[in-house]
Amino acid sequence: MRNNPSSSSPRALSSSPQALSSSPRKRGSRKLSIVNILNQFSQALTSSQTPLLDCEILLAFAIKASRTYLYTRPEQTLTPEQQEAFLQAFEQRQQGKPIAYIVGHKEFWSLDLLVNSHVLIPRPETELLVEIALNLLPKDQSLEIADLGTGSGAIALAIAKERPQANIKATDYSKEALHIAEQNAERLKIKNVQFVYSNWCNELKGSFNLIVSNPPYIAEQDPHLSTGDVQFEPKDALITGPTGLEAITHLIDQCRKHLRTKGYLLFEHGYNQAHEVQTILQRYGYKDIERFQDLANNERVTIGRLE
Ligand code: GLN
Repeated sequence: MRNNPSSSSPRALSSSPQALSSSPRKRGSRKLSIVNILNQFSQALTSSQTPLLDCEILLAFAIKASRTYLYTRPEQTLTPEQQEAFLQAFEQRQQGKPIAYIVGHKEFWSLDLLVNSHVLIPRPETELLVEIALNLLPKDQSLEIADLGTGSGAIALAIAKERPQANIKATDYSKEALHIAEQNAERLKIKNVQFVYSNWCNELKGSFNLIVSNPPYIAEQDPHLSTGDVQFEPKDALITGPTGLEAITHLIDQCRKHLRTKGYLLFEHGYNQAHEVQTILQRYGYKDIERFQDLANNERVTIGRLE
């Protein structure tokens, strides 16, 4: 809901960075230009590794413009509503909230996806999984594909967009996540994904040429969980148990019933889990196991096929 300007006067931006860090509510009233805001607020954003970039994104969000616009109109001053929107966003960022949750969007595979705190923020490294999936999927065939634990729908929608003839079922055990994924499909006008409320394969009907997943694979005690953006993300989408391999093992087992002959299971895992993942796949009878590295040479995706 919009603020009523007559009942509460909007907070004003200060020209003093000290005032910013001490008490955001007691700011001076001088109107600042885009360039002043970027300079001063980026200095005050000490909690971030990329303070200027963060401020650019938040300011562009607050004034409903592109980042490029900021540099074409550096002297423009903000309206009171824009100031208020920027300050609210900035304060959330200062408290560590991920940029993607503040602005409500994240780009993945050049798709603009809605995100909120019910879904993982799609990662650039997960594009590797999409790339490998596309290499397995000829363009002109109507293959059956499943994406388990779809979250925002990132993987399913990227594959669906590139392979309009394919039929994709995307599951999640979070109704809130499915709601976001459905909205993303609608906004992107992608029609070949069907969303299914299901705990992994439990409610999944049919058999598939390819099953993909970015399951939770972080061990409960992993210190990474209390750092950066991850702290704000849904625990169920990240953590799976004491070893980090619980969900992966469950998937490898369950998917055997849903894969067609010569069907592939393709999933992301931790950079140090490739060897264990391979052993589990072999134990459950998968063949042609292949491991793939991301740009940092970490093994992050493994594929296996059923005979
Ligand atoms: N890649 C994510 C991270 O390390 C984890 C995603 C997942 O568990 N699927 O933060």
